[in-house]
Amino acid sequence: TIPFTLLLSIVAELGSDTSHSAIIARSYDIPAILGIRDLLLKVGQGDAVLDAYEGLLIINPSDDIRASFIKKYNDHLTLLSVEKTYINLDPITLDGKQINLFLNIESNKDDALKQSDYVSGIGLFRSEFLYMKNTHFPTLDEQISAYSVVSKMMKDKKVTIRTLDIGGDKSLTYYALPKEQNPFLGKRALRLCLDELPIFETQLKALLIANTERNIEVMFPMVGSVEDIHKAMAVVNRVKASLDDEGIAYAKNTRFGVMIEIPSIALMSEEVVKLVDFASIGTNDLTQYLMAVDRMDASLSEYYQTYSPALLRLIKLVSDVFNNHNKPLSICGEIGGDILAVPILIGMGIKNFSMSASQIARVKKVIRNNSLTTCTLLAKQALSMSTQQEVIDLVKKHIIF
Ligand code: PEP
Ligand code: MG
Repeated sequence: TIPFTLLLSIVAELGSDTSHSAIIARSYDIPAILGIRDLLLKVGQGDAVLDAYEGLLIINPSDDIRASFIKKYNDHLTLLSVEKTYINLDPITLDGKQINLFLNIESNKDDALKQSDYVSGIGLFRSEFLYMKNTHFPTLDEQISAYSVVSKMMKDKKVTIRTLDIGGDKSLTYYALPKEQNPFLGKRALRLCLDELPIFETQLKALLIANTERNIEVMFPMVGSVEDIHKAMAVVNRVKASLDDEGIAYAKNTRFGVMIEIPSIALMSEEVVKLVDFASIGTNDLTQYLMAVDRMDASLSEYYQTYSPALLRLIKLVSDVFNNHNKPLSICGEIGGDILAVPILIGMGIKNFSMSASQIARVKKVIRNNSLTTCTLLAKQALSMSTQQEVIDLVKKHIIF
């Protein structure tokens, strides 16, 4: 493997903007263009320049193009150094509204944890990466130690750990996932856990035992119905009862929440809010399922619309319900760290955003440069628009980046 620090950029035939390879590249701020069809047929060894802002890869560039890319690169470095000056500041709007930023991490050793001083906690610990980097299902003790490290490091800041979300584009070398026509619509995440109870129970046990600091919250992925919540909580209660029987100490008041990433559960928010302690909107999957577009397929990216008024209206519905019930709600999909989307989401009442480490400073900058009043007006307009392009144009016109 190549150390991330030696990687200048990544280009690949497979993947897309919200595939997990892109999410990891983004967390290290490595420019990446994924989903270039027949890349390996077209490209040999040699020179190339790329502009990941525009999704442009040029092979054997002329001297003029090379010079223009050097200028672009220097502009990019200047922008990064300006953004960096915001990392230490509070994410507070021009008119004083406090927003909370959280980190998305993949493991207890994630480099992103170096940024933990600049955020209010961990908003999404994708626990499946513990399983993916392993050669066997992590044991109870291995899991307790991984979760405890993060929990102790964060002290009084909260750590939201998502239970195993395997399937879709995430697989294990030591476990054969069911062969399915449509893996993203299949037995992934919570569905798999409910079917493989010993795996699920071991993880829940580890989470409950590891929560000695009382800052761990547990979140279920791919919840599609109220029945899913009942089923998951029934397993939690069984695990608690067995810990009680064994006389093992654990955090009885551990908080449980769900990811809102399937449209059906978003529409059931009024019922969901009464059953959970918190929720987080996973817009990567929510967009995929709302718009019926494979999030992995870059050739369909024009149909995968993360700024679509339809997605915004669905998020608004969830946001209103959780705000009315005073229950915490966050956004942990990639738009939670996207400076085009954050102002509208703030205007829709979202106060908590979880993102890759590389996005923290730039999101703080956009929050501090704009007012809640502007965001609210913008959100109102965006919600009444017809197309994604209108939403993008509106934000670009009114928001100071
Ligand atoms: C999401 O779906 O938005 C999400 C945060 O989870 P993941 O990207 O890991 O599927
Ligand atoms: Mg998801």
